[in-house]
Amino acid sequence: MISSRKAIVIGGSLGGLFAANMLLRAGWDVHVYERVADELQGRGAGIVTHPELMAALATAGIAVDDDFGVEVRQRITLAQDGSVRGARDMPQKLTAWGHMYHVLRSGIPDARYHNGKQFVSFTQDETSITATFKDGEQVRGDLLLAADGLRSAVRQSLLPGATPAYAGYIAWRGLVEESSLSPRARQELFPYFAFGLPPREQMIAYPVAGKGNAVEPGKRRYNFVWYRPADEATTLRDMMTDASGKTWPDGIPPPLIRPEVLAEARRSADEVLAPQFAEVVHKTESLFFQPIFDLESPRLAFDRVALLGDAAFVARPHCGMGVTKAAGDAVALVDALQGNDDIATALRVYEKGRLAFGRFIVSHARALGAYMQAQIRTPEEQAMAERYRTHDAVMDETAVAPAMHLVTEGA
Ligand SMILES: Cc1cc2nc3c(=O)[nH]c(=O)nc-3n(C[C@H](O)[C@H](O)[C@H](O)COP(=O)(O)OP(=O)(O)OC[C@H]3O[C@@H](n4cnc5c(N)ncnc54)[C@H](O)[C@@H]3O)c2cc1C
Repeated sequence: MISSRKAIVIGGSLGGLFAANMLLRAGWDVHVYERVADELQGRGAGIVTHPELMAALATAGIAVDDDFGVEVRQRITLAQDGSVRGARDMPQKLTAWGHMYHVLRSGIPDARYHNGKQFVSFTQDETSITATFKDGEQVRGDLLLAADGLRSAVRQSLLPGATPAYAGYIAWRGLVEESSLSPRARQELFPYFAFGLPPREQMIAYPVAGKGNAVEPGKRRYNFVWYRPADEATTLRDMMTDASGKTWPDGIPPPLIRPEVLAEARRSADEVLAPQFAEVVHKTESLFFQPIFDLESPRLAFDRVALLGDAAFVARPHCGMGVTKAAGDAVALVDALQGNDDIATALRVYEKGRLAFGRFIVSHARALGAYMQAQIRTPEEQAMAERYRTHDAVMDETAVAPAMHLVTEGA
């Protein structure tokens, strides 16, 4: 291994931090450039963990203790009247985005993490790569990693045709304090990873750590993701329009969601969800929604540039694999760089391993989510919608890492 090589990481969220931690441990001179000016926080809420994610944390040198997450032992589905419709044992550890960010960010010295740096372009030749930022600064290195997410500027410059495709539904999300809930909701929700299946919709909800990473009963929070169809040209467009009339096609900032859009979500919660879930939605102070997208990149390696995490592939969140995939990308990338001194060769090795996995996850998550699409467009989508509509199938496969050899692509 050549030890003094320099990596430029664009994007300082979880994908970029995984890669940066692993490259630092492998002896690289690493610098992370994040567009957002302040410490990142509050991105999403709960994160489902998988064994692969824990293994990647160990590879990154991040020690994980007992308070890393909240352990649940069982999954349940609640019917609309609040009764339990199905249950199964499935132990799982659930953590919070903020905690994951904190443990990964702690591994990077402040002098190597640069906030308020928006990447705009790069040039590369046989000996180096140079990134240019919006403030005019240029940084030279040996390798550039694009960990800049769904709307990656790096990917757009390399693959202008690889754009996110709206899946036909949105996810309402939020976190509620355990202490604010009624005794019934605390008792009937907190021990469980809980599901609700109104027609064409899905609620998934689980406990996560509370303020100060507290995991003891009474101090935790309950996290939910509530999927609902939304036609792109009508309902979604209206939801993405703020009070001044401006439409935000790439996602409306949560504080700008109009009060009547929030009120409609709360009203619908009363109509379609179990009362325990409706209470959670009502008591969530910062209710927000995200449109759901599919994104596939046909390539990941471009000489000295590699795409990883959401910049490379975005699967619908049903497998709960976004962070685990980003972490796995980082593991594969650093392995390839350790095994090949030539960077372009190493990146081709990385691409070969991760393209197939990315495609597989996108395809499997598309199948899991088909029944929530506002429009079912093809017979294949109809077949997928039928297959994943039962509460058994949803409990068995949601937020579970799928084994590539066990699931037929597009099934
Ligand atoms: C509803 C929903 C629920 C989810 N639930 C889960 C779950 O339970 N488990 C799970 O594993 N995953 C989940 N995910 C997916 C997960 O959030 C993402 O896969 C993961 O955050 C990807 O991380 P990333 O670092 O690749 O991208 P991001 O987190 O999007 O980070 C990209 C970073 O790049 C920065 N950036 C962008 N452009 C530039 C630029 N030009 N210059 C510099 N910086 C830039 C951004 O500010 C950002 O910090 C969920 C997603 C959604 C929508």
